[in-house]
Amino acid sequence: MRPELSDYDHLSAGKVRELYEIDEDTLLMVATDRISAYDHILDPEIPDKGRVLTAMSFFFFDQIDFPNHLAGPADDERIPAEVLGRAMVVKRLKMMPFECVARGYLTGSGLEEYQKSGTVCGIALPAGLSEASRLETPIFTPATKAEQGDHDENVSFDVVVDRLGEERATELRDATLSIYSQAAAIAEAKGIILADTKFEFGVDENGTLVLADEVLTPDSSRYWPAESYQVGEVQPSFDKQYVRNWLTSAKSGWNKSSDATPPALPGSVVEATRERYIEAYERLSGEKFCTWVGDCV
Ligand code: ATP
Ligand code: MG
Repeated sequence: MRPELSDYDHLSAGKVRELYEIDEDTLLMVATDRISAYDHILDPEIPDKGRVLTAMSFFFFDQIDFPNHLAGPADDERIPAEVLGRAMVVKRLKMMPFECVARGYLTGSGLEEYQKSGTVCGIALPAGLSEASRLETPIFTPATKAEQGDHDENVSFDVVVDRLGEERATELRDATLSIYSQAAAIAEAKGIILADTKFEFGVDENGTLVLADEVLTPDSSRYWPAESYQVGEVQPSFDKQYVRNWLTSAKSGWNKSSDATPPALPGSVVEATRERYIEAYERLSGEKFCTWVGDCV
């Protein structure tokens, strides 16, 4: 008999995920179908999104050579039936206070900083780079984890050293870059560019660094189709860019810089977004998504 979700203490609700306590050492991390953009949780949800993200995390945890926080399989008997397929049983860790970002290409907040100062998180880059430029070598660009409702803030490596010491900071940087290059190679073989990605690490009772949270999902990563890659242009990515584009288009009638709640997403945008998440999973893993949820027809 599987437990009920209500058998577990609810620890916290993020914008997208809910955390429950299974026991002192073990947590249940549930990915909902919520989607956030520009720091708003949007309406309505994207059907299956939580399952797709969970399937992708399991796929990559299995592929990546680094200790991770999984404490059971996707069908672990401690997972309540109502969240089966969208939940992970994980080791409870002491989380590191940084989001560990690796970038192999220049875009987003990295490009913004580069255009102002020629650097990203204090790392000097060559002149002449533009939107979507490939970097000579991938870089580690940490960010502090913001309190809910705030933006994460990019910081230099020195800030990580000041907070955690040289040894742990170096370990975080090396781990981030190693996992990024493993994942980028897997994606490249499937015709997908992993432009950048964010990891969260924790430390277990032995002081060992462990890869935690979700990994290499479209919510934590920018994936670009390699076949249409072009320097100088904003790439069509497999994440919520589609939703962002609609929100900022005239069609939505929404002003990003206002405090207004974004309008509800039309059905066509919901469906197109769902399809892009599923396509990303299927292309990267080589599996049909319906085999994950178990209702292939
Ligand atoms: P938001 O995503 O809304 O900005 P958030 O990142 O705090 O907020 P979620 O990502 O929804 O929230 O929830 C996941 C939370 O669980 C994060 O705070 C993350 O640091 C934490 N976490 C992930 N893995 C572990 C683990 N193994 N042990 C303890 N905490 C973990
Ligand atoms: Mg998070």
